[in-house]
Amino acid sequence: MNEKDRCKSGAQPGAGRAGRLSPASALVHGATPFDPLTGAVSTPIFQSATFRHPALGSSTGYDYGRVGNPTRAELEKTMAIIEHGRYGLAFSSGMGAISSLVKLFSPGDHIIVSEDLYGGTYRLFNDFYRLYGYSFSWIDTSDPDLVKKALRPETRALFIETPSNPMMKVTDIETAADIIHGKGGLLITDNTFLSPWFQNPIDLGSDIVVHSGTKYLGGHNDVLSGFIVHSDGANEETLRNIQKSEGASLSPFDAWLVLRGLKTLGIRMEKHDSNALIVAQWLRGRDRVEKVFYTGFEDHPQYALSRKQSRGSGGMVSFYVKNPADVEVILRNLSLILFAESLGGVETLITYPLAQTHSAIPEAMRLAAGVNDRLLRLSVGIEDPLDIIADLDAALLCCKEENE
Ligand SMILES: *Cc1c(COP(=O)(O)O)cnc(C)c1O
Repeated sequence: MNEKDRCKSGAQPGAGRAGRLSPASALVHGATPFDPLTGAVSTPIFQSATFRHPALGSSTGYDYGRVGNPTRAELEKTMAIIEHGRYGLAFSSGMGAISSLVKLFSPGDHIIVSEDLYGGTYRLFNDFYRLYGYSFSWIDTSDPDLVKKALRPETRALFIETPSNPMMKVTDIETAADIIHGKGGLLITDNTFLSPWFQNPIDLGSDIVVHSGTKYLGGHNDVLSGFIVHSDGANEETLRNIQKSEGASLSPFDAWLVLRGLKTLGIRMEKHDSNALIVAQWLRGRDRVEKVFYTGFEDHPQYALSRKQSRGSGGMVSFYVKNPADVEVILRNLSLILFAESLGGVETLITYPLAQTHSAIPEAMRLAAGVNDRLLRLSVGIEDPLDIIADLDAALLCCKEENE
């Protein structure tokens, strides 16, 4: 289309425009920046379970809500744009996305998995898919030699979380992709911790990206959701069939909440990132704190790699206290920081992985990964960092009083 015709026909909603925008603008405007029918700036919530067929054999593109919904479709297209894939699929939770994804594989297939990952993923694979005849190897995927050693003739995929949860180990995504592609398998990356604002695994060779949208994407601790983003046409057909058959699809209202959250992902991530650096540095200087795990420290063992493949460190900071008795005192005495499972929302949360997110992982494996009774994990929110520090300081002072 020449310039004159383009001007005459006026702006078209969507029309691939967002794909060419910079990330901050693509997040704000999504795949379809306004509703073509009404001009609504906010994507309408199509709260309809079913859709009328115009005639026998014809469809508006929407038939039944489990299969497709216009609000969900807008979110799925937006996720594909911001995560640099061709296709996006939205699910009712991160686990819904991961459970659907594993059905791309078959009994007998072997999958290599990061040992230090979200406990729910471990539980799903170990308590269910293992019994269905899938096999899994749990290893430290930040060491490429261990990944190579774990390969078997029937290995079909490598599933990584980077940075890992909760120990903040970094896996080299490009190297991981090379190793598994050499076996004809797929690299799957759980990109929940950094979000597409700071890391785009597909650009680094990952075939599939999964997200718990409950975390940074939604960003406000008010909605559960999960996503798969990828670029393979054949897998898309299978994944759509899984989504349609299994029914873990995201509801229209929840899709709208995530769309609303995504608009501010960029500014939120920048604030999570700068706050986490301040809090991590402060924690590091405390007497009662033994060690702080944070990928933004220059002496983090994989700092250079982290800078190479990511644009930020995000808001996650884990730390060991010296005295295990301090854990209970800290959790009881924090007031601004909320003792609650989850991460990625505007509120600062603290988690005790041993008893919460990682309780499903067997003790020996958990300890080998570093998840012990002295580990706490902070999801640093977007409050004033001085308030976050003051809260931690007060709780540590209580430890001094009670445990010395
Ligand atoms: C929370 C989380 C999940 C699971 O997502 P839900 O939305 O809670 O089902 C998966 N992976 C990571 C890294 C998570 O933090």
